[in-house]
Parts: sequence; structure tokens; C-alpha cells
Amino acid sequence: MDDAAYFAALPKAELHLHLDGSVRPGTVLELARQEGVPLPADDLEHLRPHLEAPDDCASLREYITFFELPIAVMQSVPALERVTFELCQDLSDDGVRYAEIRYAPWLHVDRGLSLTDVIRATLAGWRAGKEATGMAGGLIITALRDMPPEQNLSLAQVAGRFAAEGVVGFDLAGDEAGHPPILHEDAFRLARSLGLNITIHAGEGAGAESVRQAIAMGARLIEHGVRAREDPEVAAMANDEGVQFDMAPTNNFQTKAVRRLQDHPLPRYFKQGLKVTISTDSRTVSRTTLADEYLKVAHVLGCTRQEIWVMNLQALDGGFGEPAVRAKLRDQWVGEVEAAPAGS
Ligand SMILES: [Zn+2]
Repeated sequence: MDDAAYFAALPKAELHLHLDGSVRPGTVLELARQEGVPLPADDLEHLRPHLEAPDDCASLREYITFFELPIAVMQSVPALERVTFELCQDLSDDGVRYAEIRYAPWLHVDRGLSLTDVIRATLAGWRAGKEATGMAGGLIITALRDMPPEQNLSLAQVAGRFAAEGVVGFDLAGDEAGHPPILHEDAFRLARSLGLNITIHAGEGAGAESVRQAIAMGARLIEHGVRAREDPEVAAMANDEGVQFDMAPTNNFQTKAVRRLQDHPLPRYFKQGLKVTISTDSRTVSRTTLADEYLKVAHVLGCTRQEIWVMNLQALDGGFGEPAVRAKLRDQWVGEVEAAPAGS
């Protein structure tokens, strides 16, 4: 079996995945028509360049602009349900069987929805998606770095009410430069006290200090963490505390967290014994799938099938969803995959 077929067939887990970065282009077009949202193009061919970041994208700040159109059409209950449901279908087609999907509710209140409405709508889409595909995992609520801290505090309060209904974590994302995580410490303390697990985007648009702060604020999952390598003490701190880095190679190249894909630190982190996993971050904006990311990690970064399998199981082990569900999946996957002749 060639690598493309092998990675496509592998049962996979993905932890670092943005709902608004993963909306089907055709769905953006249809929802915009239904909801009267103006678009810069009225056919798919011309719309795609507004939804998919190019490889010569200059920075995280530019990358984030590709989320604007999907967010503009995700302002109603049916739209939020639909995109969440469709993402479950797309994940399932990609061989992903465990996923944690994240998004920022404050970006979906422009047309009158409350934070509660937004979270309920995505949970309804998630439940329907799980039912249709057998997907496991949960939703992660994302706070935004450039929001006033009190707005993230109220978001944590609302998110905590859904801790028993499928919301498994609380995240911080957005433009990193000039917005250190520590500004939002109170929101994260509250989220933890309400039973949510903590994940923080750090070490992408800003350096190792941002990763240090994120770990100190209780993050078990650091999203990206590419620049943690700039300070060996921060890497050692991550190792000591068992912190995991959920990296997205194509995205990290597009945001220029790495200058060349082949320089991505993922293999080095892995060899140093750090916990690392592979994700897409945004399937539409980065025009990728998890199987494609695994293939790049094999072909461009030189990792073996066995190493990638270890990273895949790490995603399952390090996830926030119910431990019993993850343990059961792990047994199933190990039985399936390790019984099959895979080669290395
Ligand atoms: Zn991300």
C-alpha cells in the first residue's frame, strides 16, 4: 500500500481544528445566498481564493483574514448546525474518528444570537454529526486574544455550563503579537474551575515567552508551539509538565511560523521526547486534510509510519474527551492497525 492510501485508511485523531477555517466553499456560497451576505465572487472558482490561504501568505495576521467570509455566513442557528454537521462528515471521509472542534462564539453574535444560542447550535450539529458518522470527541470554546478580558471571562462562564454536554475545553486564539495570554488569566482560571480543560495557541506569532505563560496558565495542549524551541528552558518546562504540542505543518508554513516546510521542528520535538501531534488547524483555509498532513510529515519532514502512528495515538491520549471513550478507541485502533501489515 502506498503512503497516500495508508494514511487515508488509518483511523486518525485530530485535536487542533477550527470550525470556521473548515467550512466547505460550496456551503459558504449557499449560506451567503440564503442569508443575504455579500460575497466578493458569486461562483466557486472565484470564491476559493478568498477562502484558501496561498503558500506565500505573509503572516498569521494575513492568514486570519481568510476566516472573515465563513464567519460572516455563520451567524444563525441553522448555519452553525450545518457547518458543524458537515465538518463531521468531512472528517469521517478523511478517516478521522476522534476530533475536537474549536471556534470562537464571540464571532457569531453579529446578527443577534447570544453566546448560549451559538454554543447550543454547534452542539446540535455536533450531536447530529456524531450520530451520522460515529465520530467521538467534543467541542472546544475559543476566547480571543484581542477581546477585552472581561468578555473572555463571561465567555468562560457560559462555556462552563456546557461542560457536561460536549464542551470539553477552553482555548485562546487570534493574533498573538502584542496580546500575551496572561491578560486573560482570570477567564482561564474560571474555565478550569468550571471543569474545562485548557488549551492555548502560543509560540506561533510570538516567541517562547508566550508558551511559558500558556503553560503557567494551565494549558495542557499548546497549539503550534513552533517557537518554543527558541528557549530550551521552555521546552524543558513543557517536558516536565507533560504538555503536548498540536502542530499543523501546512498552516505553520503559511503563517510563516516556519520559513520553509522542511524546517518544521516537529521531528526534532518528537526525537527530544516532547509530546507532539499532527493537525490541519483549518482544512479549508489551508486546503488540506489530516491524511495530507500525515503524508507531508512522512515525505517532507522524514518521519516514519511508525513515528506518525505514535503521534496519532498521542492525539487520542492527550485529548480532552471522556477517558473511557478514548481508551476504548485506542484498543480498537491498535487492534486494527497493528494487526495489519503496515511496513515502516
Ligand atoms: Zn489554531
